[in-house]
Amino acid sequence: MRETLLIEQSKQGRKAYCFPPLDLPKGFQQALPPLPESIRREQPARLPEVSELDVVRHFTRLSTMAHGVDNGMYPLGSCTMKYNPKLSEHIAKMDAFTKIHPLQDVSTTQGSLSIMFNLLEDLSSITGMKWGTLQPCAGAHGEYTGLKMVKSYYEKRGETGRTKILIPSSAHGTNPASAMVNGFAVVSIGSNEKGQVDLEDLEAKLDDSVAAVMMTNPNTLGIFEQNILLISKMVHAHGALMYYDGANMNAILGMATPGEMGFDVVHLNLHKTFATPHGGGGPGSGPVMVNNTLRPFLPKPDILLTDSGYVLDWDGEDSIGKVSMFWGNFLVLLRAYVYILRMGSEGLRSASAHAVLNANYVAKRLCDVCEIPYGEQCMHEFVISLEEYRQNNGVRAQDIAKALIDKGYHPPTMYFPSLVSEALMIEPTESESLETLDAFILAFRSILAQAKEDPEYVKGAPYTTPVGRLDEVKAIKEPNLRY
Ligand SMILES: *Cc1c(COP(=O)(O)O)cnc(C)c1O
Repeated sequence: MRETLLIEQSKQGRKAYCFPPLDLPKGFQQALPPLPESIRREQPARLPEVSELDVVRHFTRLSTMAHGVDNGMYPLGSCTMKYNPKLSEHIAKMDAFTKIHPLQDVSTTQGSLSIMFNLLEDLSSITGMKWGTLQPCAGAHGEYTGLKMVKSYYEKRGETGRTKILIPSSAHGTNPASAMVNGFAVVSIGSNEKGQVDLEDLEAKLDDSVAAVMMTNPNTLGIFEQNILLISKMVHAHGALMYYDGANMNAILGMATPGEMGFDVVHLNLHKTFATPHGGGGPGSGPVMVNNTLRPFLPKPDILLTDSGYVLDWDGEDSIGKVSMFWGNFLVLLRAYVYILRMGSEGLRSASAHAVLNANYVAKRLCDVCEIPYGEQCMHEFVISLEEYRQNNGVRAQDIAKALIDKGYHPPTMYFPSLVSEALMIEPTESESLETLDAFILAFRSILAQAKEDPEYVKGAPYTTPVGRLDEVKAIKEPNLRY
């Protein structure tokens, strides 16, 4: 059932508030300057007039229409929608953290500074990189920051001819976008039949006009690049740098580090791997970690531990400057830190092991009913192709995704990476139990069976949502947000 808007529920004179009479002294009231004519309304604004209960019921009903990790499985590949433990929420709500101000004297914020300092140390060991910044507020923002540092590094060395970033064809869309906003040209590197970087193509495109190669490992097909050591050697031999898109660190925590793989700069998505809530455009965090080569270019300030405690260090003429307000999204950093402390290094390692196990389990139990073009053995996620269903039954990946909503699951990521036609990218994460995975597999298989028997039904899904199938293209191209 469609939820009516509050304005539609409006009844003249109904109120959800009750103010005491104005008790300002008379003279004071007159002293208030009137609003300038130019900004006054001609008529009072048309606002909904509703009771408190109307408001409460409206928003409570809306809240039950959203699908989140807290009410069901959310296998949205590449996004790592794992469960966000409530302990982090509890701590992030404490007055000690919510009632401080970034401009307070550092002598009064030593605790918060120590958290950021320690978090950076933990992220250093997790990534195998020495230094870092917590300022960037999203993965893409981290990419922007990291590539800006790469750019400054070459400017400093006078190598202004390094204008290109090489990016594998399987990469996330933010990679080329971040390269472009930093003024680089993007050159795509092909993938081989195993879904890994095509070494010949890479070699052919490497020359002294390349600034960096940007890679995700495991890549967005959920496949580990087996030649990664060779690749970083080739890239470094041409004087270029290695950028690691660590948004999908969830497969390798405690098993391998980008540092060991030969990367020079890494961004992480705390709002994926480190269990801080995301989606719907909420606050994120994309710390960037670097090795010695790029350290001078890190955003300022740096947090240093001195004999007199933690201090903010603003020195450094090569720094790219600040990239966000104050010190980043502090409460997101805090949640990630709580998660890391609570899990410990063994816990993080085990999370990755289970993430990989869960993805492989689901892949194995689906591979007889759908094609997994780059092999069933995967890391934390896998990509299926529903091309045969499109050709034989006229049912597309999007239809299957919508049908999953009726069964209580958030759709997987669709049509990405573009290497795979009719792609669905499934990432169960370590949070889900065997029972949940089995139920998901059963639901998925029954939808595929139905796609063969009654394709029209599947093409009409979803049936259980308040508004049915939406015209997504129109919603993007012609957004109409006015009532
Ligand atoms: C999510 C993701 C990004 C972008 O992160 P945002 O926080 O959404 O900007 C980049 N690369 C990969 C592989 C991702 O999965």
